Amino acid sequence: MIELLFLLLPVAMAYGWFMGRNSIKQNQQTAKQDLSIKYSTGLNYLLSNQQDKAIDSLLDALKVEDDSVEAHFAMANLFRKRGELDRALKVHEHLVRLNHLPTKDKQQAVFELGKDFLSAGLYDRAEKMFSKLLKSKDYGVKSLSYLLQIYQSTKDWQQGLNHKKTIIKLNDKRQLHTLANFYCELATSAFAEDKFIEVIELLEQALSLDPNSCRANFLMAKIYENHEQCQLACQCYQAIYHQDKDFFPDVIDSMKACYTRLDALDEFYAFIKKVYDETAGSSALICYLEHVEAKHSNKKAIEFILSALKRRPTIRGFQHFVNMQKNQENEAENSTSLGLIKELISEYLKVKHRYNCHSCGFNSATHYWSCPSCHEWEQLKPVRGLEGE
Ligand SMILES: [Zn+2]
Repeated sequence: MIELLFLLLPVAMAYGWFMGRNSIKQNQQTAKQDLSIKYSTGLNYLLSNQQDKAIDSLLDALKVEDDSVEAHFAMANLFRKRGELDRALKVHEHLVRLNHLPTKDKQQAVFELGKDFLSAGLYDRAEKMFSKLLKSKDYGVKSLSYLLQIYQSTKDWQQGLNHKKTIIKLNDKRQLHTLANFYCELATSAFAEDKFIEVIELLEQALSLDPNSCRANFLMAKIYENHEQCQLACQCYQAIYHQDKDFFPDVIDSMKACYTRLDALDEFYAFIKKVYDETAGSSALICYLEHVEAKHSNKKAIEFILSALKRRPTIRGFQHFVNMQKNQENEAENSTSLGLIKELISEYLKVKHRYNCHSCGFNSATHYWSCPSCHEWEQLKPVRGLEGE
């Protein structure tokens, strides 16, 4: 009889295992049903526009399973896009608190939370979040960009420069360009106090990070000019032309003043002629015409501008042509008509924007180094085309 009982032992074990397995399955099924109910409830709340109740219900569901993490990120981002930042924050803060989430999801939650704080203008909290992710493989570079954005908004240039080593190591052109502008901002403050050596050192740092920063060369030219080093200033102005032809029209007058002080106007006009031949810009044309008129005659200058306008017509070029004609005109009747045309063109150009942002299309009558609309650096440039350069 006892042997029989021993024979039944494996059967009992198999039965126990089978029942246990069924019990786990049953628990899982119950959990899934529970999750499904919470989801349905959450969705019902969402559909009936009771968003706060929907969030609570959906967050509750997340405690049971984390298969739904992506859905929660999507929901929170949707709230942020709609400007409902308190709701987006609630979801992301909940995700950050969940200890069992995989590292990548947790980092995403911290990153999104940083973006929520940034949208809400809570810079110190956003900075804290992005700083946590600097070593992250997935979010390190993006977090650094947001940190630079925060330092730009708070004008905390030195904080941005503290990340210089990392930015150089990453060799990200956009971030190097941003950092060069941070140096230019510090140089502008030093320039206001006429700290010559400090300005030069800061601008050299800017150019080492971004050799194409025409802002650095512009400031450098100005400080050299103020300290009677016109030769060096002229070199900086020439460098600007090679860095950014679109920005160059804005430095022509300062450049001419420098060459005048050096008594080297012939050299200046030779350079401007080269600029005009290469760009056909209206500022370079108008400037060069002064030279033609002075060296040759008014008639030669008019011939030159006529062929220039045929080559590339611009309103500013035409305005200058009318001015030249008016100065030459003796008959009172024609002079009055030309005066009227001149006035009309002048009024027309007054309402046209001088600068345009190459990044977002923002138009402005004034020049800014950082676009007031998209905050990109050195993107506002003189407008080209019929109504501009
Ligand atoms: Zn812009």
